[in-house]
Amino acid sequence: MTEMLKGIAASDGVAVAKAYLLVQPDLSFETVSVEDTNAEEARLDVALEAAQNELSVIREKAVDSLGEEAAQVFDAHLMVLADPEMIGQIKETIRAKKTNAEAGLKEVTDMFITLFENMDDNPYMQERAADIRDVTKRVLSHLIGVRLPNPAMIDEESVVIAHDLTPSDTAQLDRNFVKAFVTNIGGRTSHSAIMARTLEIAAVLGTNNITELVKDGDLLAVNGITGDVLINPSPEQIEEFKAAGQAYAKQKAEWELLKDAQTVTADGKHFELAANIGTPKDVEGVNANGAEAVGLYRTEFLYMDSQDFPTEDEQYEAYKAVLEGMNGKPVVVRTMDIGGDKELPYFDLPKEMNPFLGFRALRISISETGDAMFRTQLRALLRASVHGQLRIMFPMVALLTEFRKAKAVYEEEKAKLLAEGVAVADNIQVGIMIEIPAAAMLADQFAKEVDFFSIGTNDLIQYTMAADRMNEQVSYLYQPYNPSILRLINNVIKAAHKEGKWAGMCGEMAGDQTAVPLLVGMGLDEFSMSATSVLRTRSLMKKLDTKKMQELAERALTECATMEEVLELEKEYLDFD
Ligand code: PEP
Ligand code: MG
Repeated sequence: MTEMLKGIAASDGVAVAKAYLLVQPDLSFETVSVEDTNAEEARLDVALEAAQNELSVIREKAVDSLGEEAAQVFDAHLMVLADPEMIGQIKETIRAKKTNAEAGLKEVTDMFITLFENMDDNPYMQERAADIRDVTKRVLSHLIGVRLPNPAMIDEESVVIAHDLTPSDTAQLDRNFVKAFVTNIGGRTSHSAIMARTLEIAAVLGTNNITELVKDGDLLAVNGITGDVLINPSPEQIEEFKAAGQAYAKQKAEWELLKDAQTVTADGKHFELAANIGTPKDVEGVNANGAEAVGLYRTEFLYMDSQDFPTEDEQYEAYKAVLEGMNGKPVVVRTMDIGGDKELPYFDLPKEMNPFLGFRALRISISETGDAMFRTQLRALLRASVHGQLRIMFPMVALLTEFRKAKAVYEEEKAKLLAEGVAVADNIQVGIMIEIPAAAMLADQFAKEVDFFSIGTNDLIQYTMAADRMNEQVSYLYQPYNPSILRLINNVIKAAHKEGKWAGMCGEMAGDQTAVPLLVGMGLDEFSMSATSVLRTRSLMKKLDTKKMQELAERALTECATMEEVLELEKEYLDFD
């Protein structure tokens, strides 16, 4: 029987493929007495070998996709698996206690884990404890006969099913095989959704219970444009989804003709269309989609893909690669925005009740805790500045004093580098993200001191509405077209222009086809979005008349009370469909 589900359409694309459940299996087992301990030892050997083979494959894939350094964690796991002392003790326990291999394994590894964990102040030992815990799970899974899911092991066309996907899970998905993913929770602006759009993987999020309804190997039909998911579709339904996929591909091919075209409205006004990236590798997609700039480089992914804080040289190389890859076109690099849904395993920050409202982003950078890290990043950026047109942007600014403090650190590092004889470009702009309502309200004052604004609507909307961007239960409050949000945005744009500065937007709203006409009307200068949305936005802009859009925006800002009213009004102005 076919089951139908509706979730949040998070990344365009249509896929029909088998389900791959990325859900932790039940690893519970019973402790039983055995007579034949030799047989249990042999079972253990088989499981150890299987785990070893599996880890070697995962390691190799990790080297290919993430690099040698990131794969090192698997070396540590392989070492645990080959530790003669631990394996000897497990076998001894099996023999002495006449118990099954599962129980012997668990007893000995638990003992080692406790031992290492109790060495409180030694992070190396803490990591060993974590390694042993991971390896135990893997060996246990082979003893019990269940599969530990691993995105890197997917080697046929699949739809990944998970309760949630972290940005690092998403980064591991191989787009050659993973055609779509569907999750229980998450929203359009969660970072896994944003990455799905960059990777061009279809995604439907927030279905509530897909993990309970789907078994490994079930056939799934997923439409990331509408949010529809079918479990075990009929042949007719498969055909329908395939047709929708083909229609989408055809539309994409039409947009592609605009790759080298100017971004101009019907009346000839130019707007800058930029793309958001997470890694230097994404620059390829930026150019392939004909974007005119990088409007947001989320550098925190550089930190998240690394086993430790990236060094100044490592960062320099990454920034240089992006600047060079963009061939002199502007590149807005945002300083590290850790926090919220983006964690760093090696950066020990206290757990917080409300991480999105907590110690994160620039708040860390300008604190004593983050000072060295911030300076390292700024030096790397300043050194890289000679390779292109760099713009530096600070995230999560609430107070003008925060900006001043960050800017002062920037000036200090710049002066130091110049004194050391290091070349630094003289045209670097320094701006801020506007993603906190306080800054949006006070934009007129900020505009006197910053070089530019980039409006981060993903956070601005969640903070204005007090609605978690990751929580599908409050997703009805996530209203980009609500007049309250539009007024804040308009305030920011007008404040920038009054001081002769430019205002861009790098939140997902910039690529939202319903929002674009309103933003054109408000005079937003730069639109930065997933690279895959650039061409469709260029195609839309060609149809817009700025005078008409100005009138639309003006009326939406002054006459409308609800999002629905704004949407109704917009229909009156978009008569080209
Ligand atoms: C935003 O908040 O709109 C933004 C662009 O930043 P992020 O999505 O990384 O929080
Ligand atoms: Mg943000």
